[in-house]
Amino acid sequence: MIDQAVDLTNCDREPIHIPGLIQPHGALLVLQEPDLTIVQVSSNTFELIGHPPKDILGKPLLALLAPKQIATIRQCLSEDFEHVNPLDISIKREAKLLRFDGIVHRQNALIFLELEPKQKSRKADFFEFYQRVKGTITKLQKAPTLLEMSEAVVKEVRKVTGFDRVMVYQFDAEGAGRVIAEDRVESLTPYLGLHYPPSDIPKQAKQLYTLNWLRLIPDCTYQPIELVPAHNPADHPLGDRPTDLSLSVLRSVSPLHLEYLSNMGVGASMSISLIQDQKLWGLIACHHSTPRYVPYSVRTMCEFVGQVMSVELANKENHEDLDYKMTLKSLQGKFVESLSQSERFLDGLIQLDSNLLDLVSASGAAICAANHITCIGQTPPETELPALRDWVKTQIQHNQFETRSLSQLYPAAASFKAVASGVLALEISQFHQNYILWFRPEVVQTVNWGGNPNKPVEVTDDGETRLSPRKSFEKWQETLQGCSLPWKPCEIEIVTELRSLIVVVILKQADDLAKINLELERSNSELDSFAYIASHDLKEPLRGIHNYSNFLMEDYAALLDADGVAKLNTVVRLTQRMEDLINSLLHYSRLGRAELSRQPTNLAEVARQAIDTLRISQPQSSIEFRVPRSLPTIHCDRTQISELFTNLLTNAIKYNDKSEKWVEIGFTESARVELDKGDSEDPLLYSFYVRDNGIGIPPPHLERVFQIFKRLHTQDQYGGGTGAGLTIVQKIVERHGGKIWVESTLGEGSTFYFTLKQEGNHE
Ligand code: ADP
Repeated sequence: MIDQAVDLTNCDREPIHIPGLIQPHGALLVLQEPDLTIVQVSSNTFELIGHPPKDILGKPLLALLAPKQIATIRQCLSEDFEHVNPLDISIKREAKLLRFDGIVHRQNALIFLELEPKQKSRKADFFEFYQRVKGTITKLQKAPTLLEMSEAVVKEVRKVTGFDRVMVYQFDAEGAGRVIAEDRVESLTPYLGLHYPPSDIPKQAKQLYTLNWLRLIPDCTYQPIELVPAHNPADHPLGDRPTDLSLSVLRSVSPLHLEYLSNMGVGASMSISLIQDQKLWGLIACHHSTPRYVPYSVRTMCEFVGQVMSVELANKENHEDLDYKMTLKSLQGKFVESLSQSERFLDGLIQLDSNLLDLVSASGAAICAANHITCIGQTPPETELPALRDWVKTQIQHNQFETRSLSQLYPAAASFKAVASGVLALEISQFHQNYILWFRPEVVQTVNWGGNPNKPVEVTDDGETRLSPRKSFEKWQETLQGCSLPWKPCEIEIVTELRSLIVVVILKQADDLAKINLELERSNSELDSFAYIASHDLKEPLRGIHNYSNFLMEDYAALLDADGVAKLNTVVRLTQRMEDLINSLLHYSRLGRAELSRQPTNLAEVARQAIDTLRISQPQSSIEFRVPRSLPTIHCDRTQISELFTNLLTNAIKYNDKSEKWVEIGFTESARVELDKGDSEDPLLYSFYVRDNGIGIPPPHLERVFQIFKRLHTQDQYGGGTGAGLTIVQKIVERHGGKIWVESTLGEGSTFYFTLKQEGNHE
């Protein structure tokens, strides 16, 4: 078994930007401003430019180059290097004039001048060069798909460079590369479709690839050339440190990389970065079986092709799966429509059923709302879902998470990988704990690797572990288990968009609700004051009618016949009744307006007083009052709670035709009633009851008895009443943050339950 840790740390730690070495096909001069003093050179200057390092170190560049050339370099330094490189540089060596491509850049306040000897070949004509580039770019742009563009690129790059093999690699999310297009000499083994493990290109190399668009190794068997001196000049701001060669075109590459290439049978290599969103998307990789030099001008063209392809990547990807994207968009539209029509957005999601799955081509989904999970299609067992959801929550970034191999990240998923190897999760609200999880089944796949991707570890003589790149690049097949089909970027995008849409819908619903609440509050208080004013003002004329009817009775009864007297009596009775009704209404509206005066109240005492009052007012009836255990002391408005008990007890006695009447007053703490989510946690919520063995209430009227002036009996039955008692009781309970309801069996009795919240402001 290969130790992955050894593999990654070894390669990823190699400081490849400061090797202190360059490749031998050019010479490097490091210069310091303002005089462009030569402070560091590659040790091959004699071979290449005819001056050994000791002769030129410490001298100004003027000692080497003609003033005109220096002026060009100076001008170049004030411009964008990319646009002026390469410079035409010539150096006199005895009678000969040596000609170079000069490549200049500035890094850490040092000037780097790299000199590559010009090839003897015919100087490329600018127009020819332009035509070539233009032709290539048109082909790239015209290619309808990413794949066709890649195929055009490998052909064109091979044509201009003459490499044996040119490939386009694409990296996946894990960093593994896949050859998606290839153009090669017939006799070579095809690499098309092969995968390469992420460790083939270490992290820091990838980082350098995003800085430099192109790298060339003309001869993989080269002997590296040292820099003299090895470090930055001592007076350099970065001090006496190895020189940073990140942007140098001659920089020597890692010996591991050379070993890798030679194992692969590669004699020369060039690679061009393909970058999307500042990330390395892939590479155009060129191999030649023997050494091969590519002049700077051709490299520039290849680099340009890479840059155009990089820009085109997004275009091509956007055009890919266009029909599928259109379908997704229309599904998304349906989605939002259905959500905005349903009162609770989760209901809307559930109703969508298979549409929810089609949206991302999933085979199952779980809709999580607080502690409730609803499943659609094929999902992991319901018992597994809460734990999975909780784990997914920890993985979510930017409101989403996706994986195609869940069991690798979350081992518990191994048991249900058949239905859920792929998971795409969307966080709709962290606060409300609303999530949607989509699932995709396992699809067993065969991956063709370019050689066994597990790097062997070699042990050197001194017993230390050293890495060696793999020796064989023979096709190596791996069966991939526990993986689903990958989530496409357009699917992830549609889901992210969906979240924003849902949020808009929810916000709108919340807004509407807030408006309705405000409206309700306003009309409630208007009604209250209306009831108060109306009943208050009605009382006076009513009193007048009542009094005058009485006067009539007293002074004129003798003048009327019996019928007249009876009618007058009815007027008196009706006005009396009307006054009772108005008084109840007035009382009710006052209850809504008065401040609650909460104080610690011993309910046992309140109930006892109510019972005593009732006993006094109804001495003839024998009623048994049962109080199984002493009622608690709670924080409430004593007067109102006393009225509540009196009302309930009065009813319990009134609506009772049994010879042995009893009323029981009790309470429970354990059977706490959930008013809403928050209250269920409240330890101070009591549930009281008043039970009787009276006539009972028919089921259809169980709720109607709380309506104002609603009576189930005629005026004369059961001692009469205004029908406001229970409405008042309900108001008192609600003002105490509680609820009231009744359970009853006709003919056997009724139980009125109510809860009271001691603290908290529910008014
Ligand atoms: P009322 O002044 O008529 O008693 P309430 O609002 O107190 O008005 O009660 C409304 C109606 O509910 C009553 O008319 C009666 O029909 C019914 N009701 C109230 N309490 C009981 C009870 N304990 N048993 C049976 N019916 C009851």
